[in-house]
Amino acid sequence: MEQLRKIPKVDRVLESEEVKGLLAEYPRTVVLRAARLVLEQLRKGVLAGEASEDAFSAGAIGSEIGAEIARLIAPSLRKVVNGTGVVVHTNLGRSILPERARQALNEVAFSYSNLEFDLEKNRRGSRYDHVERLICELTGAEAALVVNNNAAAVLLALGSAAAGREAIVSRGELVEIGGSFRIPDVMRLSGVTLTEVGTTNRTHAKDYRAAVTTETALFLKVHTSNFAVVGFTAEVGIEEMVRLGKETGVPVMADMGSGSLIDLRKHLPCDEPNVQEFVQAGVDIITFSGDKLLGGPQAGIIVGKKAFIEPMKKHPLLRAVRIDKLTLASLEATLGLYRDERVALKEVPTLAMLTAPLEEVTRRAKGIVRQLRRALPASVHLSLIHGESQGGGGTLPLLNLPTLLIEVAVDGLSPNELEAALRTSEIPVIGRIWKGSYVLDPRTLLEEDVAYLAAALGATARAGSRE
Ligand SMILES: *Cc1c(COP(=O)(O)O)cnc(C)c1O
Repeated sequence: MEQLRKIPKVDRVLESEEVKGLLAEYPRTVVLRAARLVLEQLRKGVLAGEASEDAFSAGAIGSEIGAEIARLIAPSLRKVVNGTGVVVHTNLGRSILPERARQALNEVAFSYSNLEFDLEKNRRGSRYDHVERLICELTGAEAALVVNNNAAAVLLALGSAAAGREAIVSRGELVEIGGSFRIPDVMRLSGVTLTEVGTTNRTHAKDYRAAVTTETALFLKVHTSNFAVVGFTAEVGIEEMVRLGKETGVPVMADMGSGSLIDLRKHLPCDEPNVQEFVQAGVDIITFSGDKLLGGPQAGIIVGKKAFIEPMKKHPLLRAVRIDKLTLASLEATLGLYRDERVALKEVPTLAMLTAPLEEVTRRAKGIVRQLRRALPASVHLSLIHGESQGGGGTLPLLNLPTLLIEVAVDGLSPNELEAALRTSEIPVIGRIWKGSYVLDPRTLLEEDVAYLAAALGATARAGSRE
């Protein structure tokens, strides 16, 4: 009770010298909110019997309020260090943009632009024109359209090409991509009736053929991006499906998911087809993501035959799913790198990280450990162990790449405690627990991250040694 009485009233706290300084710097509402939170914390501490005597001084309360204000006004969305080795990490923002996109973003974000203005003809232009020619040049397609993301691309494409009619899909491809994107739901939403054919593990051309009616508007092929059916399986390949489409007069649409613009099979042990092949095969409508294997910003790209893309440009849904100018600028910059595959492999971070050979990862791992050892106290232990990195969310589910992991241990902390401490650092570091150890995978660490790692590990070790 006596301690509870020592907790000052909010009004008195606001009059203290320490808090007056804060009031001069921050809005009153923020200071007040922080003060209330700090006093509430103090009250809880007293009730739990954990409040120390010096916690009641004006100085201590003032500095707690200062710290609380910093937490309150800190941006919620911020940079983290990805030490997971998962290159396309859905929870950590999927792909990071190539350096080339920085300049494009700078130019368009802080200046007016010709977003919807045709400079040559001095009349209204279309935002979609900026990247269409480049996408067609890269993929060999007749026409292209970009929207907000691939889910929107599928919704628009289905709604435009098959609303009120049927689309035939293999039961093995009725996928859920996570975050509630389920193919059957998207089809319903776009007004398309789903006709399922085949079984989970095997679907044949004859299944598709037998399901065709006068109401059939599309054969839809969906990339099983985040799982694989192995064993006794059969699916109709894209070329066979196009043949079947020609034979039955049914157009073919493919949701490729990741949508690589280079032949990844030359660089990785995977089976990922590229967009050009699907275009070449004669698929009428192809959709894919901008921020998965393409390594650009969040976007949905639709390519295919003019006869199908042109109506999408006039569809009312397009306005609701349109791409914004920052995305467009960074997408154009990213796509430009693909004019030369060698440049794309080097400068698109997603591709560079995925295709980094073990020797390079090893060199980086050793370099990082050397730098960290120099910067950190002896209570931080670093060693290198062989392991695997994963491709990531919604891409290459079976891909495991050999890597050299940096195992980190700090005296006095369990791997789980270390994980939590680094995750809640000023610049959060996200690693993983692997075989009972805390590990960081250099595959997804950027050069600048070493300094953040050193800061987070240093602070964690100092806090650990004080306890
Ligand atoms: C990832 C994925 C989507 C959704 O794409 P977003 O760009 O995340 O909207 C749709 N279909 C498939 C097959 C996917 O892999």
